[in-house]
Amino acid sequence: MMGVLDGKRILVAGVTMDTSIGFAVAKIAQEQGATVLISNFGRALGITRRIAGRLPAEAPVLELDVTDPEHLERLPELVREHVDGLDGVVHSIAYGNPETMLGGKFLGAPWADVAQAVQVSAFSLASLTQACQPLMTSGGSVVGLTFDATVAWPAYDWMGVAKAGLESCSRYLARDLGPHGIRVNLVSAGPLKTLAAKAIPGFEDIEAGWATKAPLGWDNVDLEPTAKAVVALLSDFFPATTGEIVHVDGGYHAMGA
Ligand code: NAP
Repeated sequence: MMGVLDGKRILVAGVTMDTSIGFAVAKIAQEQGATVLISNFGRALGITRRIAGRLPAEAPVLELDVTDPEHLERLPELVREHVDGLDGVVHSIAYGNPETMLGGKFLGAPWADVAQAVQVSAFSLASLTQACQPLMTSGGSVVGLTFDATVAWPAYDWMGVAKAGLESCSRYLARDLGPHGIRVNLVSAGPLKTLAAKAIPGFEDIEAGWATKAPLGWDNVDLEPTAKAVVALLSDFFPATTGEIVHVDGGYHAMGA
């Protein structure tokens, strides 16, 4: 059977559980013919190694903390132990201290925590892409995940600011890497009940009414629509698309009320 990612080598960064969006992306990418490597950082690496066995084909697990310059520097070497280059990179990474960055305490947030949220959730799209650039010698596709940063949400707070940074970052990367044949796009997903979402105090206030306002409805435990869009952007079916944000939210963003 032909798959849309036949022959492609893909790194999915940010897989912890089988509820991670990255896990769903890795699964569908494999089903579509890709060779997939996954990564996660430090403390959850053991979980990721176990979870990797639940994929259709067990994927190699690389250690990558996007805030560690040494990890970024050695990444090409770790990747080359398994594949001779990359055709696609998925950035499925975000972090903000749930005590200070999320949950309605926007005013008074300490800069150190804001800096961490922006480094892990926005700047890392640039640092991960740069680390992988030497592996994408014949071009490639970089795909990240955002939550609509054009408006203010309940509880999302400084993570929303970090996502606005991520969205802008993807456009500048698209500008600078287009001449190298590298496309950079984001998928803007609706609320999904992943580990990261459960850590947001007040997540229910964000998702309240989503399923009824979205013309297509919305299932907050179904990762497949989001993962399929990521896979489509990794494929050769969006050859002239970069700096784009594709909404996978049931159509919520397009409705006024
Ligand atoms: P997730 O399973 O918790 O994935 C987030 C990943 O980021 C985890 O694997 C986490 O590792 C990793 N991470 C955190 N800090 C890192 C660091 N310094 N270096 C490397 N990796 C790090 O949650 P998810 O919902 O699938 O999130 C994936 C992406 O989708 C995020 O960008 C998120 O903002 C975005 N998104 C989510 C939703 C939603 O409603 N869930 C909606 C729109 C967009 P640990 O688990 O070990 O901390």
